[in-house]
Amino acid sequence: MAMFGNLSDRLVEALSNLRSKGKLTAADIDGTVREIRRALLEADVALPVVKDFAAHVRERALGDEVNRALNPAQQVVQIVNEELVRILGGDEARQLSFAKRPPTVIMLVGLQGAGKTTLAGKLAKWLVGQKHSPMLVAADLQRPNAVTQLQIVADQAGVPVFAPEPGNGVGDPVRVARDSMRIATEKLHDVVIIDTAGRLGVDEELMRQAHNIKEATNPDEVLFVIDSMIGQDAVATAKAFDEGVGFTGVVLTKLDGDARGGAALSVAQTTGKPILFASTGERLDDFEVFHPDRMASRILN
Ligand code: GDP
Repeated sequence: MAMFGNLSDRLVEALSNLRSKGKLTAADIDGTVREIRRALLEADVALPVVKDFAAHVRERALGDEVNRALNPAQQVVQIVNEELVRILGGDEARQLSFAKRPPTVIMLVGLQGAGKTTLAGKLAKWLVGQKHSPMLVAADLQRPNAVTQLQIVADQAGVPVFAPEPGNGVGDPVRVARDSMRIATEKLHDVVIIDTAGRLGVDEELMRQAHNIKEATNPDEVLFVIDSMIGQDAVATAKAFDEGVGFTGVVLTKLDGDARGGAALSVAQTTGKPILFASTGERLDDFEVFHPDRMASRILN
């Protein structure tokens, strides 16, 4: 799948310019690092991440970390690849944490439109494939059609939804979330996925609500769901959610769009939280475990 189209092309081009050269001079390396820097900035990667990335690549390429099996251009490609893996979170994919005593609680937070509800369905379907029995919880009672939308993805995934009874007023999302724990235990669901409300911008009341849901359910994972297209706002939004609610991992959505790559390449390093999953389309199967090394190779191929 085409991802990070322009960024990917630019990086590949910057690196292929080195191939025609036999021995690399410091000026060649500086030139390439400058191109990489520009490509990352234009892809909306956060400035501190760009600076750190460029400094690491430059230092390593200029240093005497020599691998005799590779020619100089291949060495730089390898360094860039390793540095991409590093900023994407390191070698290993971080596994979802499960509770010792079920139910495992996974809470989804993020801005409205980030893709939380869709993700709830994707995650549920994926968990069913792993022999779990998840239940979705409608704690987004802000938007009138949010519960209906969650019901639709739940039906597609073949899992139930716990929601306040229709006609019961707007309902209290914290209570719904708390009650869902008991229902999950009674109905033998070993995973509970809580969909929470999102606003268009970061909002104090919303943060407090999410915080209260977290207090009430003590989740094993709080996943911050972020639209890859958000660009430069990614870091500020992630920080606001981390301060306001606190999260354990990140899910990148809409990687199938013409995402420039900024969010993907910025959030792991700037928040220090791993990216667990990627969402790559509107269908429930457009979902994958996030592997930093595979993502880096996709960017460089
Ligand atoms: P929420 O407000 O965070 O619950 O976001 P939704 O799950 O309602 O998603 C908002 C819109 O984005 C919907 O139209 C989804 O179909 C769409 N969407 C969600 N994830 C993806 C994705 O990975 N790729 C694409 N192309 N669209 C997505």
